[in-house]
Amino acid sequence: MPLSYFNETHAMVRETARRFVAQEITPYVDGWEEAGRFPRALYPKAGEAGLLGIGYPEGLGGTGGDIFQKIVWIEELMRAGSGGLAASLGSLDIGLPPVVRFGSEALKQRIVPEVLAGRKISALAITEPGGGSDVANLRTRAERKMVEGREAYVLNGAKTFITSGARADYYTVAARTGAAGYGGVSLILVPREAPGFSSGTPLRKMGWWASDTAELFFDDCMVPVENLLGAENDGFRVITSNFQSERLTLAVMANMTGELAFNAAQDYARERKTFGAPLSAHQTIRHKLADMATRVEASREFTYRCAARMEAGETIFKEISMAKNVATDMCDKVTYDAVQILGGMGYMRESLVERLYRDARILSIGGGTREIMNEIIAKQLGL
Ligand SMILES: Cc1cc2nc3c(=O)[nH]c(=O)nc-3n(C[C@H](O)[C@H](O)[C@H](O)COP(=O)(O)OP(=O)(O)OC[C@H]3O[C@@H](n4cnc5c(N)ncnc54)[C@H](O)[C@@H]3O)c2cc1C
Repeated sequence: MPLSYFNETHAMVRETARRFVAQEITPYVDGWEEAGRFPRALYPKAGEAGLLGIGYPEGLGGTGGDIFQKIVWIEELMRAGSGGLAASLGSLDIGLPPVVRFGSEALKQRIVPEVLAGRKISALAITEPGGGSDVANLRTRAERKMVEGREAYVLNGAKTFITSGARADYYTVAARTGAAGYGGVSLILVPREAPGFSSGTPLRKMGWWASDTAELFFDDCMVPVENLLGAENDGFRVITSNFQSERLTLAVMANMTGELAFNAAQDYARERKTFGAPLSAHQTIRHKLADMATRVEASREFTYRCAARMEAGETIFKEISMAKNVATDMCDKVTYDAVQILGGMGYMRESLVERLYRDARILSIGGGTREIMNEIIAKQLGL
């Protein structure tokens, strides 16, 4: 049995991704974090490097590749130390898969290559001001009507907390097309230029500063019926399967956040002297570092194991929910301890761990909260 999840192809992807991040992101990322945005020009650069296309079919402008190539890209992107940048640059990976899997051929050909080239931005819009966890009870409505001799969906409602919300070009929107409950939800692609659509300005947040997170408004917003993704009223199933890869991504992001925090704390503990010895010589600190390293390693291995099972075609709702909780718990604890080890310096904006600590907090909320993961696990356990 192979002991590594990564082969030579993955190593090449890692090399490309690492070089891209070192040249195009790391030198500028602190400024982008402070500014609360990063240049749109980064998308086509990542597209040209073939990084946005990882995991997508070549016929649609993708570069192919398996789940572990995607993991490599996310890990290297996270190395820049900005979860917000990774979330926004990567928002295509939550918005686009339903288009690829369930969109009509014409819709796919029109939209997917543009997004993978970085010329257009894709976002996923599920959460509403009235609630995000209870997806089955969402309220945004899409009514099928004849408008000027053409069949269209007319959407009314609002979404909130949408990553890339302020500047995306295409929104994969969950809306109610049928009866109450999960059986009445559909996914519909809404282009920014659709009449009746508008987005708010970026919301101010605790972390993920470089990411734009915004509200969306649908006021008799009209889109052609051809923009339906999958069958009408079957959107909940599509959303549920889409969540699997989103949760894997969030687990990978949490693992990298923990690893970066551990590395920073370890470096500091070797350098900083108190009471005549480096911090790393004090037993409480060295044991804390040992615990941190253990948690990062264990969580990463479990995430990789889940990824391998997904790559093999297994549906693992329970385990991927567990992996997200394990990784985000680890990340909360490790970033907290890293700030503690750096002392006052850990609280300063100039320290990477200060940002990692803030960025960590969203990971157990976005893509399904810790509590919702536990609900899924409990149900799968037959409870
Ligand atoms: C920075 C950021 C980016 C985001 N990006 C996106 C995006 O791109 N697209 C998108 O659609 N959404 C996005 N979200 C929204 C995110 O997915 C939701 O915030 C999340 O799903 C929780 O929904 P909520 O905030 O409405 O909390 P609520 O659903 O109101 O829940 C509030 C609290 O109650 C708990 N809770 C709820 N129900 C139960 C229960 N049955 N048992 C126990 N506890 C429960 C929850 O776990 C949570 O702790 C983003 C959020 C943030 C902050």
